Amino acid sequence: MQTKLPASFLETETGRRADQILRRCVHCGFCNATCPTYLERGDELDGPRGRIYLIKDLLESGTANPVAANHLDRCLTCRACETTCPSGVEYGELAEIGRDVLRRSGFSKPSWMTKLLLVLVRHPNWLRLIMRLGRPVRFILPASLRETLAYLPRRGESVGSDNASVLIMRGCVQSVVTPEVNDHLAGLLQTRGIAFRFSDETRCCGGMELHAGLHNDALNQMHSNVRALDSSRLQTVISTASGCGVTLKEYGRLLGSDEGRAFSAKVVDAVEYLQTFTFTKKRKDVTRVAWHPPCTLQHGQRLRGVVESILTKTGYELVPVKDVHLCCGSAGVYSIEQPELSRQLRQRKIDSLMANQPELIATANVGCQMHMGTVADVPVVHWLELLR
Ligand code: SF4
Ligand code: SF4
Repeated sequence: MQTKLPASFLETETGRRADQILRRCVHCGFCNATCPTYLERGDELDGPRGRIYLIKDLLESGTANPVAANHLDRCLTCRACETTCPSGVEYGELAEIGRDVLRRSGFSKPSWMTKLLLVLVRHPNWLRLIMRLGRPVRFILPASLRETLAYLPRRGESVGSDNASVLIMRGCVQSVVTPEVNDHLAGLLQTRGIAFRFSDETRCCGGMELHAGLHNDALNQMHSNVRALDSSRLQTVISTASGCGVTLKEYGRLLGSDEGRAFSAKVVDAVEYLQTFTFTKKRKDVTRVAWHPPCTLQHGQRLRGVVESILTKTGYELVPVKDVHLCCGSAGVYSIEQPELSRQLRQRKIDSLMANQPELIATANVGCQMHMGTVADVPVVHWLELLR
């Protein structure tokens, strides 16, 4: 793709990077075939190729407009298009640059519900309190809030050892809604004699802000994490939520600092850490499992087939699932900002997952688990909960 970005923009690192990514696109449109929003809406501007043109116009003209804002807001940043693209276009990074320009021009502002959530994830105790207080009146609240309140807030039980060099990221939402996932990982490490410690539950990775287009807020959070967690004392940082893991792995690129790169280099998803171990089946009552790989695992971290292999070796039967590459519609704050489209995508995903009568659905990210768990006819669990 030919570009004419302003010279002043090209002098910046962001400008050079945007130009490099745009020039890789050869307009072939292969990516449209795997884009959930294009498949749902059939509009070229709701597919990756159309959005790339919109971002190019935005960066060349320096003028934001509501049309570009609407179509970019509808993008899930699922990065399925990156997996499909034969030219290696890093769409996710380009979308980040485009969204930042839109935000600074006053477009695509997060809603009050997103702003509230972003405050609460930094204060898990407030989130627990609000979830408890909100439960009795959830029926009068907007659907996206009502669904979140379907979950009872809890606290994790496992305790790590202070000086261990293996760190488990608790995750902000996960530490409140599904803390048992980290407990399961802790149990699996304990039985193998691996010492670990936990991050403070207020340590949000910054992924939510990034998804909401609040680039500077996200970077501030990341700086604070890198300073507080001090990777020189760590050998490995394990994330059990693939949405957090994909963000933690990007600290080096996003912060552009040696500290950020040193931290990112130590981050692994739980499946990378556990892939060489063998397990026994925990859920003896379950055989047929439908596996939903979150976009942050399969497209963001490019970890495909690994959880599937562990679950199969452990004795579960994975039922065939159509369109496994498509997003469930959760996507950070997307279910709050785009509730209608998010629900359409969820229904499509649930239909695919349930087509071969599984006894439960397994996934690897708390957002997907909550989003699907409120409507699925079978339990939706984290895959770690299936291992002993
Ligand atoms: S598949 Fe890649 S090169 Fe082709 S239009 Fe999409 S982003 Fe551009
Ligand atoms: S990130 Fe996902 S929703 Fe956005 S353009 Fe790419 S495939 Fe479509």
